[in-house]
Amino acid sequence: MEEELLRGAVGPLLAWFCTHRRDLPWRHDRTPYTALVAELMLQQTRVEAVRERYVQFLRAFPTAEALAAASEEEVLKLWEGLGYYSRARNLHRAAKVIAQNGFPSTFEGVRALPGVGDYTAGAVCSIALGLPEPAVDGNVLRILSRLYADASNVDEGATKAKYAALLRAVYPPETSDFCEALMELGALVCVPNGAPTCEECPWRTLCRAHLAGREEAFPVRSEKRARRIVNATVYVLQCGGKYALEKRPARGLLAGLWQFPFFEGDAPGFGQLLAEKRAKHVFTHVEWHMTGKRVDVAEEIAPYTWVTAQQLREKYALPSAFRPFLEWVK
Ligand code: SF4
Repeated sequence: MEEELLRGAVGPLLAWFCTHRRDLPWRHDRTPYTALVAELMLQQTRVEAVRERYVQFLRAFPTAEALAAASEEEVLKLWEGLGYYSRARNLHRAAKVIAQNGFPSTFEGVRALPGVGDYTAGAVCSIALGLPEPAVDGNVLRILSRLYADASNVDEGATKAKYAALLRAVYPPETSDFCEALMELGALVCVPNGAPTCEECPWRTLCRAHLAGREEAFPVRSEKRARRIVNATVYVLQCGGKYALEKRPARGLLAGLWQFPFFEGDAPGFGQLLAEKRAKHVFTHVEWHMTGKRVDVAEEIAPYTWVTAQQLREKYALPSAFRPFLEWVK
């Protein structure tokens, strides 16, 4: 693919970004550490969901040293509700590496931090270290496939590598603005769900998909696999003002996090049923179809951990899948 088209698109994109950039908390007082926190929080999570949590997290852990000194429970509690908790654990591990060795100064060094893939390393390098390293995510794949009207399958690694090489060849000195402008165009104008608003796009006179009136034919993707449905029973067991919690297995979905007693398939009976409700939670590859049961029990049953409502709110990180049942915890 010829570089000239993208080279000519850089200037209009940067000019557009100057006037359209959103005022987001992670764009203030940026350091490599805060850029890493923001990028990990933003993975697969909406900007609106991250805004406030980012501020709270940085207030608690303003530096890598402060985060490195925290306990895992404290870190997970501040991550509560953001999902994909392995990101929090990896960030915690990365902070320990940074506290000991300083923040890496090369792409390879950033890429070697726990939980950092090509995309995050590229974003942190471009945004906070001034290095011309591309960060190719779903937004960038979409806008470039449309700019070029390129029918390559964007789910294939070769397509990502092709776009990364193209971006590397045209990277301007404003590495941070360029990286963020690409993401911003994908978030605000050439959007993932719904029609792009091409009349507001700085690339409207260059974009081959738009010029051909075929915006929505791109990007080309593999067919999605259907999600696996898991039917489960979730027990909110209460006993004298305390509630039962258990830890999930150390591996797999929501590994090692706290939950209400959770049974896939057949579930035991526990005691007097006070209320029942159904709820659904959708993960990337799995859907939980849950029946929640609020039950009064006569004594604290082993092996559960019994906690008060206040302890649950303040100390235990409960994944958002269980939020529909929190109304029973008073
Ligand atoms: S012109 Fe339209 S399709 Fe092309 S990049 Fe802009 S918003 Fe996307």
